[in-house]
Amino acid sequence: MGLDDDARDYHRRDPPGKLEVSTTKPTNTQRDLSLAYSPGVAAPCRDIDADAGRGYEYTAKGNIVGVVSDGSAVLGLGDIGPLASKPVMEGKGVLFKRFADIDVFDLELDTESLDSFVDRVAAMEPTFGGVNLEDIAAPACFEAEERLRERMNVPVFHDDQHGTAIITGAALLNAVDVVDKDLADLEIVFSGAGAAATATATFYTSLGVPTDQITMCDIDGVVTDERAAAGDPHEHVSQFAADADAVGGTDLADAMAGADVFVGLSAGGIVSREMVRSMADDPIVFAMANPDPEIAYDDAKAAREDTVIVATGRSDYPNQVNNVLCFLFVFRGALDARAREITEGMKVAAAEALADLTREDVPDSVRRAYGDQPLEFGPEYVIPKPLDERVLFGVAPAVAAAAVDDGVARRDLDPASYVEELED
Ligand code: NAP
Ligand code: MG
Repeated sequence: MGLDDDARDYHRRDPPGKLEVSTTKPTNTQRDLSLAYSPGVAAPCRDIDADAGRGYEYTAKGNIVGVVSDGSAVLGLGDIGPLASKPVMEGKGVLFKRFADIDVFDLELDTESLDSFVDRVAAMEPTFGGVNLEDIAAPACFEAEERLRERMNVPVFHDDQHGTAIITGAALLNAVDVVDKDLADLEIVFSGAGAAATATATFYTSLGVPTDQITMCDIDGVVTDERAAAGDPHEHVSQFAADADAVGGTDLADAMAGADVFVGLSAGGIVSREMVRSMADDPIVFAMANPDPEIAYDDAKAAREDTVIVATGRSDYPNQVNNVLCFLFVFRGALDARAREITEGMKVAAAEALADLTREDVPDSVRRAYGDQPLEFGPEYVIPKPLDERVLFGVAPAVAAAAVDDGVARRDLDPASYVEELED
């Protein structure tokens, strides 16, 4: 049987789907039931009514993330709508549970407008410790997230935007070190101006890349000042608009000539060896379109005699950018700090923690899981492997500490005892 049929069987095996709700307290006696429900349950209710913070003490809120989608941009499948997206959202729940012990309610919303979507998600704040927006099309995803962040007092994080930004941010921090360049001097060209590319470009400015050294291209080529003035594309991209004369043209190829970094979050096969050859010395090529990158790993490598650092979304090549490296542990740290939001500082802390971890010796167990690749810091290893169990202990404490520093934590964590807590 092929993968498709195996997947159908996997999903429909009894009970259908991949998640269930289970109880965490004894329910064996009449007494247990009168504690779990009426009349005993009234006591914690009254305490929470008097002090909302105690919701974290008496309920599962603090360990529940709502994975919310409208099904409008589902991984590789497009706008398949809310119900058809449910296997993906349940799958996200599987990852949360399996790798970060976080419970998920997956919510596939059939709403008629952005206003209605935002209202419904915001109204669920009491239920959740955090909200993971998932697979919502650009540009609606930007507004949905902004409005929910404003309205809600728990973290709201659109993984397709910020997960990608944080991981490739970590890869960038390490890659510039390997090729001995400075973030402040980089000329960076993006192919793609959608959810992932826009968030990644914005995050790179938080890491120290000047906005005017970032050029964005979409299916129509370079986002120029003229296009921005005409209102195309949306405002999140227009901050990166460039002067066509300074770029030397309006094609992606024009923009790539002389660039230090190429970031592809667009479509497979649109970058040639010649385009990589035209880049500056020791270029960095993050070609992350799935399933086929903008340029194949081997082609990008073969294009140059000097060092070229290549990352893709593929598991069969070095430097795989896989979102599993990030969102789980950002949420773990944010939930444990009882954070009100996920700040820019928390995202930067996550990227730095991932970057730092790459420089440490890799345990044999991780090396074995990846067919005994060397996994030594350098061009072929600028980000940790997705199955490296140390990522939890690196990223979650860094995110929680940043939440405390940024004044958004509702719990003051002691860093050392928090790591012990995670190990249990
Ligand atoms: P999106 O919001 O739909 O954005 C796609 C962007 O790419 C749009 O700006 C689109 O331009 C542009 N584009 C499409 N075809 C193009 C072409 N032939 N030439 C130049 N630009 C083109 O999608 P997204 O969520 O940002 O994801 C984009 C890609 O990145 C997908 O392939 C996704 O799988 C991949 N991705 C990978 C990772 C990872 O490796 N971990 C993470 C996130 C995303 P128009 O709007 O003008 O059509
Ligand atoms: Mg997604």
